[in-house]
Amino acid sequence: MTPEPAAPSTRLSLWRETSDTHIRSRFAGYYYLLAWALLWFTSSDPWQNLWAWAGGSLLLLIFFALRSRHRPSERLDQAHLQRWLDLHWLVILLQSMTWGLMLAGIQLHPEIVASHLLAMLSVVVFGTALAFTYPMRMGRCALAILLTYLPSIAVKFHLGIGDIGESIALVIYLGYLGLFLYRWNREYRIGLERELRLLQHGEQLDLRSRTDALTGLGNRYQFNALLPSWLANARRQNSPLTLVLLDIDFFKQVNDQFGHRTGDLCLQAFAERMNQVFRRDSDILLRLGGEEFAVLMPDTALEQAIPLAERFRATLAAQPLPVKAQVQELPLTCSLGVGNFQPLCDDSAETFYKRVDDALYRAKARGRNRLELA
Ligand code: GH3
Ligand code: MG
Ligand code: MG
Repeated sequence: MTPEPAAPSTRLSLWRETSDTHIRSRFAGYYYLLAWALLWFTSSDPWQNLWAWAGGSLLLLIFFALRSRHRPSERLDQAHLQRWLDLHWLVILLQSMTWGLMLAGIQLHPEIVASHLLAMLSVVVFGTALAFTYPMRMGRCALAILLTYLPSIAVKFHLGIGDIGESIALVIYLGYLGLFLYRWNREYRIGLERELRLLQHGEQLDLRSRTDALTGLGNRYQFNALLPSWLANARRQNSPLTLVLLDIDFFKQVNDQFGHRTGDLCLQAFAERMNQVFRRDSDILLRLGGEEFAVLMPDTALEQAIPLAERFRATLAAQPLPVKAQVQELPLTCSLGVGNFQPLCDDSAETFYKRVDDALYRAKARGRNRLELA
């Protein structure tokens, strides 16, 4: 036997259940009204029983309106979703009870005498529809089915309508319905769990594709994806945007001297140092490749970004990176290019990036361990 599906994340499953319950509830009202009209039409003297039909229809219309107008709001918090579900189920249960009593009622009154077969069929069909439509909640759905079923069964026994074979068949079918409900409930939960897993999987993949595995910073792919949209934002809102490019000096020598593994640890320590200095939530820290890094600073003017970038450079030169595998700390410097977006001269993300990259190149050419402005 397959194991029970684990409970999926509560909020997503609640949201899914709410939306499924709402969608499945919308058209239920038509079927009740149709069945009631059919029962009336096939009764012994329809025109004599017009009042019963009108009264019942009015009740069903009220439930129809209640169910279709009770829409979940945009709010997605758990308590709110739960409250919506509870209230909606209350209406479903009340309607099931009313329907059960209406079906029993018409069999109880000889002056109405609807087709007995049709009344029993209505019980069976609506009970089945409940199990099929609302398998998300087993207990509540079972109660709704019983409320639909039991009044008619009671009347049947009370008046002795139909034969014993029919009664046995009805009871057996009720048992079957319980079994169906159990199965559909399981299938519903398994489907939900699968959907959740797919979603989580997709999110993980998306995160991984945007993250540099060595340092945990954003990667080149994320940079390429983000830069144009941040530029568009800056242009639209007329807000400043600064880009800092950093490249470690003579990094090849670190690898040659201490090995590639130490080089990797060095890159991690460098990223850690960046995290300590560029701490604003809005700063986007990236490793563009090799030993080249970037900080994208939305809403930041050059005057704010330069002291920060300069502090990073000076601290790195003064305080060597703690690299775990090394006994002694590794002295390391980096060169920086800093520039802010100029809507008038930077006509694309590439032009802007190129301007800042040229500044970085100048910093290298003018002796390294320095900052140059674009
Ligand atoms: P410059 O001051 O001109 O930037 O000199 P540099 O040696 O830093 O620059 P260069 O471009 O000549 O060499 C970059 C080196 O970075 C080459 C490569 O060995 C090293 N490197 C690139 N990616 C990685 C990596 O993922 N891990 C390690 N350990 N080293 C890397
Ligand atoms: Mg370098
Ligand atoms: Mg380089």
